[in-house]
Amino acid sequence: NQDIIISKNVRLYYGQKEALHGINLNFIKNKITALIGPSGCGKSTYLRCLDRMNDLIPEAKMTGTIKINNHDIYAPRVNVADLRREVGMVSQQPNPFPFSVFDNVAYGLRLEGIKNKKKLAPIVESSLKQAAIWDEVKDHLNDNALSFSGGQQQRICIARTLAIKPKIILLDEPTSALDPISSFQVENTLLSIKKDYTIIIVTHNMQQASRISDRTAFFLNGKLIEFDDTKRMFLNPK
Ligand code: ADP
Ligand code: ADP
Repeated sequence: NQDIIISKNVRLYYGQKEALHGINLNFIKNKITALIGPSGCGKSTYLRCLDRMNDLIPEAKMTGTIKINNHDIYAPRVNVADLRREVGMVSQQPNPFPFSVFDNVAYGLRLEGIKNKKKLAPIVESSLKQAAIWDEVKDHLNDNALSFSGGQQQRICIARTLAIKPKIILLDEPTSALDPISSFQVENTLLSIKKDYTIIIVTHNMQQASRISDRTAFFLNGKLIEFDDTKRMFLNPK
């Protein structure tokens, strides 16, 4: 079984409001899965179930099970910090920390106790290369990450996520704040790294889903109404 993530009957309530109505959805390794559907249909909420970010929303209550590599990520003993090393998130607005490019990408590594700059430097470099931003920042590693364009900042954020070597990367509309060229660069980055990761991307852009995803899950009103191979879904729209 090549499914790395298996979610069964995932329901999520915000107070009385049911935002997810029992989602059954699996994800396989080395593939990009797009979550699509109109605004408010529950895509971001579902994505936050996968890294337990809904834990931070007091009124959010989830039931159902999510297993990653056969481990129930909501089991009582789970260490959420460990989970978030396995599952990296890239948000909609580029959100680099207000310090240098180097320190942004090294951030998670330093938290893990790697302090030596000689040890950090090659990981920072390879992460920036994977994120296809190295050539643009290599002579500016000490510049504040906020001094770069939005598209560059987003690729710096992707490099920051890659540096901690997650198995799974979640992206919530990562290009919706970017211009078209920057969006294509981010798409190309995802295509070039997918062989090493499991990637799940929320997008409201159907063309983007058809360009980069292997599988597409279509949400509507908190329900999963279609889940298929992307080519099949876009060739035979219902
Ligand atoms: P999408 O990502 O598809 O736009 P969301 O997951 O953001 O949808 O939202 C799903 C539904 O849950 C929407 O009706 C939204 O208003 C609601 N919602 C999202 N977050 C919260 C929250 N923290 N509290 C209450 N309702 C929320
Ligand atoms: P998105 O679809 O990109 O998540 P939204 O505008 O739906 O954009 O949500 C932005 C943020 O506000 C999210 O973190 C979401 O959880 C929160 N949110 C959305 N709807 C509600 C709501 N009805 N009540 C409280 N928080 C909400």
